[in-house]
Amino acid sequence: MTEFDLIDIIRARCAATRADVRLGIGDDAAVLVPPPGHDLVVSTDTLIAGVHFPMTTGIRDLGWKSLAVNLSDLAAMGATPAWALLALTLPAADRSFVEEFSDGFAELAAQYSVALVGGDTTQGPLTVTVVVHGFVAANSALRRDGARVGDGVYVTGALGDAAAGLGCLDANAVRMSECSYTPEVRAHLIARLMRPTPRVAAGMALRGRASACIDVSDGLLADLGHIAACSGVGIEVDAATLPASSALLALFDGDERIALQASGGDDYELAFTMPSTHAENMQGDIARIGCGATRIGRVVAEPGVRLIDASGAQIVLRQPGWQHFA
Ligand code: ADP
Ligand code: MG
Repeated sequence: MTEFDLIDIIRARCAATRADVRLGIGDDAAVLVPPPGHDLVVSTDTLIAGVHFPMTTGIRDLGWKSLAVNLSDLAAMGATPAWALLALTLPAADRSFVEEFSDGFAELAAQYSVALVGGDTTQGPLTVTVVVHGFVAANSALRRDGARVGDGVYVTGALGDAAAGLGCLDANAVRMSECSYTPEVRAHLIARLMRPTPRVAAGMALRGRASACIDVSDGLLADLGHIAACSGVGIEVDAATLPASSALLALFDGDERIALQASGGDDYELAFTMPSTHAENMQGDIARIGCGATRIGRVVAEPGVRLIDASGAQIVLRQPGWQHFA
């Protein structure tokens, strides 16, 4: 197995045909044709073994997730995905690793017609870097800096599953091992961690409607903090409205569930702000897409992000007990 044999395996599985790829894998660089009148939206994310994913992660899942976290960034900008690059650093030239990884990557790439157009293959500690490119009509990308006082705050899908899934994998997570959960609940939570669904269609539906948008990778409150800071506003989140999957509801309640939903990472949902005039149409469209969107709070003048209980009092999350999910 040489570097070039590995590249051939990747190319055979991932290099989809697109009319806007003049030249893909195989030359010194790719030659791509952006659609006229559009802005190019570009992002990259690196996954390092043992840092961004557990060493026990399935190889196919790793291929999926390395693209998913990048498509999530395009989704948060409202962009339509098009092209990807893959820089793969491997400890050894392992054919079956590259085959499985490529299959997971290609499975998600096919869903969004993403063509892999190039990359780099090197030897070293297992590290995956993906670059993605997408388009929006000129000046229509969703940004973090447009939230205005009075806007509603929304989130797609459900929160906290990925953090709970990480708990399911952690032998030291005493609380989880005391729980009696069904195989179905466990499988759902782990799948949400290993195979996140980038909310690409939802992001596209938010163009021209959302005033600000971000993907939830570090935890809802932390990520809303970026919108608040960039927009020069504050955000109040109503804890009781945070959406939960039936799996999360089956395992956690009270403060434990709220902590997972408000500060668990890796869910890759979209959090966004929107004037109420657009809200009804948006919620219909996003419900049709499948993930749905829930109103969870409001944009206010006082800076910072506050989690509020039903009586209007601020909830201060206790970190202890949840560190192994951090
Ligand atoms: P160069 O030496 O000119 O940088 P490489 O030998 O690194 O070229 O790569 C040869 C071709 O294979 C290039 O088109 C490059 O983009 C592509 N390529 C290399 N590694 C990967 C990879 N992991 N995924 C996709 N394409 C790759
Ligand atoms: Mg190279």
